Amino acid sequence: MSARILVVDDILANRRLMQAKLEAKYYSVLLAENGPQAIEVAHSSAPEIILLDVMMPGMDGYEVCRQLKASPETAHIPVVMLTALSETADRVRGLDAGADDFLTKPVDDFALMSRLNALLRYNAVTTELRQREASGVKIGAFNEDEASTLNRPVNVLVVDTSPYNIKRLREPLERAGHSVITLEEADALKKSNEKLDVVLLGLSNQGYDPLRLCAHLRTNDATRALSIIVTVDERDIDLAGRALELGASDVIQQPLAVEELLARIRTQTRRSRYVEILRNRVDRGLELSVIDQLTGLYNRRYMNNQLSLWMKRSSMGGTPLSVVSVDIDHFKKVNDVYGHEAGDRVLKEFAERIMANVRPKDIVCRPGGEEFLVIMPETGGDLACSAAERIRRAIAAEPFDGGTRSSSRLEVTVSAGVATFQGDEDTIADMMRRADDALYKAKSAGRNQVKSLAA
Ligand code: GH3
Ligand code: MG
Ligand code: MG
Repeated sequence: MSARILVVDDILANRRLMQAKLEAKYYSVLLAENGPQAIEVAHSSAPEIILLDVMMPGMDGYEVCRQLKASPETAHIPVVMLTALSETADRVRGLDAGADDFLTKPVDDFALMSRLNALLRYNAVTTELRQREASGVKIGAFNEDEASTLNRPVNVLVVDTSPYNIKRLREPLERAGHSVITLEEADALKKSNEKLDVVLLGLSNQGYDPLRLCAHLRTNDATRALSIIVTVDERDIDLAGRALELGASDVIQQPLAVEELLARIRTQTRRSRYVEILRNRVDRGLELSVIDQLTGLYNRRYMNNQLSLWMKRSSMGGTPLSVVSVDIDHFKKVNDVYGHEAGDRVLKEFAERIMANVRPKDIVCRPGGEEFLVIMPETGGDLACSAAERIRRAIAAEPFDGGTRSSSRLEVTVSAGVATFQGDEDTIADMMRRADDALYKAKSAGRNQVKSLAA
């Protein structure tokens, strides 16, 4: 499906011209002729990109952008400011209002299409990440750490064979607080913990093939996420097209204006850092949703998912499935005598010992408190009993660290109950109840032992 683009301009001829250009490239176009209308259409029609004129009577483009970015429903839609103003200060003002990119009128077709492509790629990544974030844990607005990450100065690798060009780039970049690294210095960077953010790659007059380097950076795992900004002489504009196809993030034409360079570096890094923040959130969200924070074992939610999954597989494939319910004996006493912290420490060490004594395919869960459940796929009752016995011994064999409040080490034992999947008619609840009944039998028979119902 072709992307929907909202064009906002107060002059009819400008809207028509832009519409014709975009429709020629099979984009579908929405139109608005003033700020309030633009905001309304942005909310009602969810465009994928907004091309926004700056100079409009009434509400100007800066204000429209500010309002779009302030509303949760429209904040994620990339805004490209279209400005006839040649003053670079005004372009930067657009970025301050939250714009994602800017173009100067009259709009150059090549520049327009390359910016749109880059933004659509960016959209594809962020949309997927935002959906995943929404289905996991909702975290909402950026926290302070994340916000400061977005604006941190950047490390720029300048790839250029001309010392003159390098010098000309280094001065303004360093004045703006960024660090400039040349190819010769890149090895030293690799050894430090510093991370590259941007590669500034000159396409013209190089003694090597810059397109090859561009492709290499994009396909190499370590550099895949870097922003690559290529600079190019007007006569080499075809090279820039190839570079964009190979994955360059943005193009700047020579002779380059310092403000434009700084602004483009800023938009590019904000974009890649935004993606990184979203990725981290998704990872963390997924982890938070399945992992018990104290022990690092799986939580009840994951346990139930895995149980129903393995029960289904077992039904279909006829392979056995067992669960072992493990409970610490007289754990309340550990808390009462040595304190809750010591209790927590025992739970952690307990989790480690269980993990060290099961097979990789066993799934160790802490559904709550001092109760643990090990799901043992492809394991019949007898095998599960001996696995449970191995766990029991590993706990009883060595006393636990009691922490500062106890000079002696703590003797800890566990009881375990084993249950085996009975086939199609069986349910999670029934199997868990059998495991608990077996566990109860082990407790009443004197603790520190393993029971299954049949035994
Ligand atoms: P039994 O041998 O019959 O299992 O006796 P028990 O004392 O282990 O069992 P009970 O269910 O009476 O007590 C469990 C205790 O586990 C009570 C509770 O305070 C403690 N507990 C549960 N979760 C945690 C936790 O996360 N940290 C700590 N330190 N203690 C916990
Ligand atoms: Mg207990
Ligand atoms: Mg208990």
